[in-house]
Amino acid sequence: MRYTPSQAAMFLMTHGALPMLTYDTLAEGITRGRQRLVELTHQDFCFDLKAWHDRLARTKSYNYRSIERPGVYPKSLLDVLHDPDWIAAVEFAEQTQLFDKLVADDAKMRQATADAERRWAGRDRFCPKCGATFHSVGDRGQCPVCYHTFFVSHPDGDPDWWRDDG
Ligand SMILES: [Zn+2]
Repeated sequence: MRYTPSQAAMFLMTHGALPMLTYDTLAEGITRGRQRLVELTHQDFCFDLKAWHDRLARTKSYNYRSIERPGVYPKSLLDVLHDPDWIAAVEFAEQTQLFDKLVADDAKMRQATADAERRWAGRDRFCPKCGATFHSVGDRGQCPVCYHTFFVSHPDGDPDWWRDDG
């Protein structure tokens, strides 16, 4: 099944994951769904699934649902409002201000990525796999000898390379 962006965001917020995308915790998945919805609508209804549903259903261009209307909620949405795991995850996200943290993290990672691109543009690098020296355009390089692809800023592939404590 293919989702429109609004459907995928709502699915993520109700299930905490998408078929090809999972997160470390249910709270993060739910919060990532909210983040997508905020990016899509430029509004924020926090973790209020009904408010999000109404918002999306009111605007045709979001391609949310053709049948459902504002105030008419799908069973999957109503069910999750009584799901203890979902409720606990949302409470945890609220208590830890997870949404603000994730938004700040994303901004930090974008900045670090842009900095790394500038910093490493056109400079020599050593392939961590075969030791060859070569030149590449930006942070990401592909070794011309062994074809190993890596980022000079984090050649070990650490996904948290951009964090201060990472
Ligand atoms: Zn190499």
